Amino acid sequence: MTAPDQLFAAAVAATGWPALLPAHRRDGSEQPTGRPSCVDALALDDGLVLAVVADGRERTYPVPLVVRRDGTGGVEVRRAEPGDGAAEALVARLAADRRDEGAFQVSRWHHREVTGERGITVDQTNESVVVGERAIVKWLVVADEGPHPAPTMLTALVQAGFGGTPRPWGAVEWRSARGSAPRLLALAVEHLPGAVDGWTWAVADLRAAAAGGDPGRAAEVGRRTGELVASFHAALAGTARPATAAEVAGWRTRAHVDLDRALEVTNGAARDVLAAMAASVRRAFDSVPVDAGTPVLRVHGDLHVGQVLRMDTDRGTSYSLTDFDGNPVLPAAERLREQPAALDAAGMAQSLVHAALVVRRHHSDLDGGAVERAGELAAASFLDAFRVGLGEHADLLDERLLRPFRLQQVCREFIYAATHLPRWSYVPEAALPMLLREDRP
Ligand code: ADP
Ligand code: MG
Repeated sequence: MTAPDQLFAAAVAATGWPALLPAHRRDGSEQPTGRPSCVDALALDDGLVLAVVADGRERTYPVPLVVRRDGTGGVEVRRAEPGDGAAEALVARLAADRRDEGAFQVSRWHHREVTGERGITVDQTNESVVVGERAIVKWLVVADEGPHPAPTMLTALVQAGFGGTPRPWGAVEWRSARGSAPRLLALAVEHLPGAVDGWTWAVADLRAAAAGGDPGRAAEVGRRTGELVASFHAALAGTARPATAAEVAGWRTRAHVDLDRALEVTNGAARDVLAAMAASVRRAFDSVPVDAGTPVLRVHGDLHVGQVLRMDTDRGTSYSLTDFDGNPVLPAAERLREQPAALDAAGMAQSLVHAALVVRRHHSDLDGGAVERAGELAAASFLDAFRVGLGEHADLLDERLLRPFRLQQVCREFIYAATHLPRWSYVPEAALPMLLREDRP
């Protein structure tokens, strides 16, 4: 056990929250409360420590720290920044001969020596640091009560030899008490140089498809993502089992709960659209003839085109799935629960339609109908490639669930727009009537 010594703990408390959080999280909502209290610490290297710091509500924050001790016993700490070497030291701890320490538990999938750190500037929730251009270390800002889905998911994917995600290197988790679920503190994976996410590349391709009268380009977006998601589910096929009657009933209940919530929080024109169609949506939720026994498996749980990174290399273009945090609106324990393959497929198909709606919004010079058709074609090609790609695992997909899950996803977009991003509301407003008029899944 590496219980923090008292001087060190006092130095953390004296430092105050702003110097402990990454720069982009020093203001805004969801700030920690009360004084920082250091509850545990893992030595990473000389003068570098990964601390677990609790706030007044007992939320825990993983903080990489630079520790300076002066000759007279004084201790000063501050958050390590890219260049200070904390991410490099974390990667070094992934070497196979290192042992776990106390409440800290390290998963090791891959290791090589890498040096040099730089921060990333793209939009991020946590703080990611690129190490030696080879690895990317993500320091979670908050370590919520676990278990976090990523470590077990990545272990399953490594065991299956799945190549469609940046190669996992390692993870550090921590338990607040013996027997409690581990909390994820940091995650290291392969860095993909120049990779961009689908809200950039797929939006650009759908725009080009509509502008150039090139439906093949939209179909290609769907085909590549469909192959990727199929190979992901095939890799997880070993986790499949039949759903229980309670689970099946639970999906229906949750769908209605999401619609109720969407109706409750949505205002203005978006609410008119939703209210006018609510009865049809409910009918779609209720008319699914799915019984216990339909297959469920470990899934992504928050799958959309933004979770697909694309990278161009001399050897061609590659696509990688990222972000195994699971569904952010579910409690931790439920995020690991097996779900129908149709849930991921519906999320991705629907997001391709939404990407086209983004294009239509920002390019009024383009023919709106052509843009919409590009999105629908991408979604249909995605589903075709997904079905074909499942191959011998085709029975993992229960087709009857696609439509209700897509409708439920649109409900969630209404909720997201109303509670987080009002300017997003044009997307579900347009997507709902499109989906209801389609007679295909
Ligand atoms: P956060 O939880 O902080 O939002 P993400 O995992 O979503 O972190 O990553 C944030 C961004 O970092 C992504 O949108 C992507 O641009 C980039 N990124 C993520 N993983 C990689 C990777 N393996 N290689 C290169 N860039 C990545
Ligand atoms: Mg993200």
